[in-house]
Amino acid sequence: VDAHLIAVGSELLQPGYRDTNSAWLSERLARVGATVRQVTLVGDDADRIADLVRRSLDRASVVLLTGGLGPTADDRTREGVARALGAPLEIDDAAASEISAFLRRRGREATPEQIAQALRPAGAETMRNPVGTAPGILARQGERVVAALPGVPAEMRAMFLESLEPLLRGRSGRAVRRRILKIAGRTESSVDGQVSDLYRAEGAEVTILAKTSGIQLVLNVEGRDDAEAARRLESLERAFAARLGADLFGRDDDTLASVVGCALVAAGQTVATAESCTAGLLAAAITETPGSSEWFRGGLVAYANDLKSTLACVRDATIAAHGAVSEEVAEELAQGARTRCAATWGLGVTGVAGPGGGTESKPVGLVWVGVAGPRGSRAIRHRLGGDRELIRARSVTLALDLLRRELRDRG
Ligand code: ATP
Ligand code: MG
Repeated sequence: VDAHLIAVGSELLQPGYRDTNSAWLSERLARVGATVRQVTLVGDDADRIADLVRRSLDRASVVLLTGGLGPTADDRTREGVARALGAPLEIDDAAASEISAFLRRRGREATPEQIAQALRPAGAETMRNPVGTAPGILARQGERVVAALPGVPAEMRAMFLESLEPLLRGRSGRAVRRRILKIAGRTESSVDGQVSDLYRAEGAEVTILAKTSGIQLVLNVEGRDDAEAARRLESLERAFAARLGADLFGRDDDTLASVVGCALVAAGQTVATAESCTAGLLAAAITETPGSSEWFRGGLVAYANDLKSTLACVRDATIAAHGAVSEEVAEELAQGARTRCAATWGLGVTGVAGPGGGTESKPVGLVWVGVAGPRGSRAIRHRLGGDRELIRARSVTLALDLLRRELRDRG
């Protein structure tokens, strides 16, 4: 089943707005066996909307629009869909009384504009809005479906889940399972080279993505029914896991921080941080995971050299002999975090984030991450590419991954 998405809203064409509705719909459609082939953004313009719907119906059997269903004059989706279908707009009496009732419960009388939200092309149905006033539109033409959903993300999601997902699941006849595998400490090309022959497994579609937080493999697996899709996914996942070993750190919603947190909780252990170039980003990343107070003791931000000594117990002599960005300082930061914060583990980060401040021996992108634990400490050198923001973000990833591996190997 091929799907086209049309996001309606002049604001979406302005810089700074993101069409998150289509991203969400793509993901949900994949699960019911529909593949999104095209996503279009269009302003609130009935002619353009009609034109896009008509063309999409030539090439896709599912056409979903979001936005432009509201009561204001700039909401033109109803009109656009009606023109595309060549049907006049008619009021849906049941939907009109629902709108009135919804507003009356909130102590308001419906205006004519609000009642006009119950308009739908003749022959089409309205879809109930479980969380707002504007109903959606559902038109069927033989095997084809055109549906218009509200722009407000929460309303769009609720309506899709209530009215469209059951309908689409019934018609695709194929079941789909999806899994994201997450990999740390590797480049995209090295992962790709190691596993790309597995991408062609039966019924599978695999995409590789490089993110600041690591490499992701997105597995979409189809089957005649859910049991077959689940079986295929499981065997494919096992094949990837066997190849990737310890570099595979999690799946789906796992993050490095959540995985590290689980390992620490399981061991009854804690961690603390001492950060120079990341200045708190590592502590922030750790505490993004709910419940992190169970394993995160706290963190030191030691930007100036004298604070590396007074806060994190880095010896002045170490800084004088090796410089602030060095293996020795990264290790002492980690030890300092551990002892000053009374944690089982300490993490230290020091590096040159740039764009200035690099030298020949300590170039921009040089980062040392240190870890200290019950059995001593060590630090690892990295040469990172990218701008200041990326270097800092990747330093956080590397520090978390260092602790993750440490916990696996000698926790
Ligand atoms: P309303 O009844 O609130 O007017 P509507 O169906 O007319 O709903 P729009 O007016 O197009 O929807 O959009 C309402 C709000 O929903 C927008 O201001 C925007 O914040 C959000 N929105 C609309 N389209 C999208 C989209 N594609 N992705 C993310 N957010 C969106
Ligand atoms: Mg609107």
